[in-house]
Amino acid sequence: MNYAVIADAYERIEATTKRLEMTDLLVDLLKNTPIAAIAKVVYLTQGKIYPDFVGLEIGVAEKLALKALARATGRRESEIEADLQKSGDIGETAQNFIATKRQVTFFQKTLTVQRVYETLDRMAKTTGSGAVDTKLALLSGLLSDASPKEAKYLLRTVTGNLRLGIADMTVLDALAIAYGGGKEARELVERAYNISSDLGRVANVIAEQGLEGIKRFQVVVFEPIRPMLAERLSSPEAILEKLGGKCVAEYKYDGERVQAHKKGKTVTLYSRRLEDISNQYPDAVELVKEYVRAEEAILEGECVAVDLETGELRPFQELMHRRRKYEIEQAMEQYPVSLFMFEALYVNGADLTLSAYPVRRKALENALKPSDRVTAAKHIVTSKVKELEVFFEEAIADGCEGLICKSISKDSVYQAGARGWLWIKYKRDYKSEMTDTVDLVVVGAFHGRGKRAGTYGALLLAAYNAETDTFETVTKCGTGFTDKDLESLPELLQKHVVPRKHSRVQSMLEADVWFEPKVVLEILGAEITLSPIHMCAMDSIRRGSGLAIRFPRFTGNYRVDKAAEDATTSAEVVEMYRGQLKQISEA
Ligand code: ATP
Repeated sequence: MNYAVIADAYERIEATTKRLEMTDLLVDLLKNTPIAAIAKVVYLTQGKIYPDFVGLEIGVAEKLALKALARATGRRESEIEADLQKSGDIGETAQNFIATKRQVTFFQKTLTVQRVYETLDRMAKTTGSGAVDTKLALLSGLLSDASPKEAKYLLRTVTGNLRLGIADMTVLDALAIAYGGGKEARELVERAYNISSDLGRVANVIAEQGLEGIKRFQVVVFEPIRPMLAERLSSPEAILEKLGGKCVAEYKYDGERVQAHKKGKTVTLYSRRLEDISNQYPDAVELVKEYVRAEEAILEGECVAVDLETGELRPFQELMHRRRKYEIEQAMEQYPVSLFMFEALYVNGADLTLSAYPVRRKALENALKPSDRVTAAKHIVTSKVKELEVFFEEAIADGCEGLICKSISKDSVYQAGARGWLWIKYKRDYKSEMTDTVDLVVVGAFHGRGKRAGTYGALLLAAYNAETDTFETVTKCGTGFTDKDLESLPELLQKHVVPRKHSRVQSMLEADVWFEPKVVLEILGAEITLSPIHMCAMDSIRRGSGLAIRFPRFTGNYRVDKAAEDATTSAEVVEMYRGQLKQISEA
């Protein structure tokens, strides 16, 4: 196929702004394309040579493009540059100069799509020393054989300025019409695209095998699937009703979505935007290799910053430190992550995207080895509003954003690339902040793991209830302690150890070690939330709920000047909670 056919089509497409006309012109082009070249033509019309997730761009700088043009035409670079200043379009400038070129090529060869594509591919893959010279030679070679019109589109393509305005959806329409028997095929063609993110592969399959091929189209490892997204409702009643009276509710973890593709020992992680982010998370790659039992799998989950010693989830902001390009090793050490998985889309040869959610969830659980670094998202199956509310509060107190409630009906397929009502998020619509520190009493402790083996991983802290003269748990804190604190804590607390929960302590949690309420620590938290698992001010705001401090951090201040009874009271925590709500309604 000659490149001139493409250039002519581009010219016609460029002349229209109407999507329908554009589609018709694209249909003509696709019908005139031999099957062997169809994927290449599809990529080229979008100014690409691969689907986006491959991450390979032609990426020729304007300067280099001008040099190549100078070489192919025998004109001075300064002359070309001056023309570009006037035209503002490298394509137009290329067209002018090729039309009037001085350098005569005696054996001008016709440009084929094959040659253009392969040359662009080589240019994209050329790196290292001498890359600029190689690219220059390749590009000027193409330009020497190009007609003015071909040169125009070539230079626009290599510099990333093609911009024909052909959206993915227009290509899908055109493919359905050209090879799928008409627009009715569009839905199936779109699904194929949504589960492969590769227009070239979709084009190839439909051109070669027709609609039957598209019906058989399956997910493939290392081709990212476009993510399913959630709708939103703000009441548990409405959510349950929408989901047919019963659903799975899962913690909505606050991290970064990852789609993990695994084949043997090879793992790639894709972001929500389908970019390869494996380099950003080498530790998560290792976690997948180690704890995903399945030989081949495509799983989705949330990558969350965690405190390895306490197992606590850390806020999203901490994960953002992992965005950097350099010193990844250091960032990995400082901000470790765990994976909380929520989807199995493919496992050992089985495409699960059209299976119901309960089937996928089971497959997910089977695909994982037991570990606390890679786990299936915490979940319940429920038909009760109250249960949803309690689970929501638990999620918030545990450092999550809320819940994602999911349909478990027989039609609960994975809706790749779509936002639909099979997933409904239940988040709070406000963010609040705790500005004041609180002084809390140490009533229990949990053994540490990893680097904290032998000392405490987290302390169970309580507020003082002056009315009942008891200490009511309000948070579990493992953050803010220096190595020195950790060393001295067991000794400091040893003399207060009691064999079982102290009679003045109100707790639903089971600590590993219990203390007589004596030691007071200053704590700064992110906010106060309702919690079904902490006893502070139980039932005073809502039946069955206490209050909890989220993301607590020890300030380093041991309040040795305070007796346990001088600690922050439960009534004060209630006041602070109400104050927060006021702040929110004023904001
Ligand atoms: P948007 O959906 O508008 O793009 P967003 O990216 O902030 O917004 P939300 O819609 O608020 O995301 O929530 C969906 C996201 O929640 C998912 O993309 C995923 O990253 C995250 N998430 C956390 N836990 C789960 C879970 N258990 N199931 C599904 N998604 C989860």
